[in-house]
Amino acid sequence: MPELPEVEVLARHLRPLLRGKTIRGGDVRRAKVLAPTSPRKFRQTLLGAKFTGLSRRGKYLLFQLNRRTGGEGLTLLGHLGMTGRMFLARKQRPLPVHAAVVLDLGRENFIYEDTRYFGRLTLDVSAVERLGPEPLSRSFQPAAFARALKRSGQAIKVKLLDQTLVAGIGNIYTSEALFHARISPKQTANRLTPGQVRWLWRAIREVLAEAIQGGSTVPLNFGGSKSDGLFYFGRAPDAPDFYEKRLRVYDREGQPCPNCRRPIRRITQAARSTYYCPHCQRG
Ligand SMILES: [Zn+2]
Repeated sequence: MPELPEVEVLARHLRPLLRGKTIRGGDVRRAKVLAPTSPRKFRQTLLGAKFTGLSRRGKYLLFQLNRRTGGEGLTLLGHLGMTGRMFLARKQRPLPVHAAVVLDLGRENFIYEDTRYFGRLTLDVSAVERLGPEPLSRSFQPAAFARALKRSGQAIKVKLLDQTLVAGIGNIYTSEALFHARISPKQTANRLTPGQVRWLWRAIREVLAEAIQGGSTVPLNFGGSKSDGLFYFGRAPDAPDFYEKRLRVYDREGQPCPNCRRPIRRITQAARSTYYCPHCQRG
């Protein structure tokens, strides 16, 4: 499932490809992904609109467009859900079976494909209003982070998934950040020491920055049909597998911890898997 780094890498990839392109038609094949926007409203609003920019907030893509009339700006919100993919493809190429929305950009199509249809492509941008600070920006401050953790009696792993605490991190990068900070995922949030909070704050930023860096330097196949699990766009032929290389604990149950060589353990918290090293992450 894509988290902040995967969405950031996708935004950087799509931004220059979309800029200046005009939407000449829209084919909505799964109305569910537009909700609450209706297919009629979606097509009416976007027809003739031109892409001017693309940014990211948490795990959301924010496509900026100018309307056909008056040059008035509008925002289209994208979310990849669990299996969503967004890419450009030449018109001649057959559409994927699970294409949810296809935007006609002239010689190319912008395709939002989703095998499970848990993602979104909608004119309703209210989801971003509820998000907490961006972890890689100045809005993510250690003092405010510490205060929020002090108010929570949840296990730290579960609390970190709360998108109002900090935006964009999910199951993969919570496990990785806690491993970096050497904090047990079972530790109660309000029992972390000030030192641990500081380590965690820094670890979150480090694992995310490293993942973005990894995804930006290795060739990915954004329109490919095969996903690689992490940078699930699909690897270009001969590109290294960073799923193997980069993750220290996530999805590595039973494999040796990179620090102490003892086996990584998997536990279930809030119905989701957590991976950690019981030896290195004791506090
Ligand atoms: Zn260890």
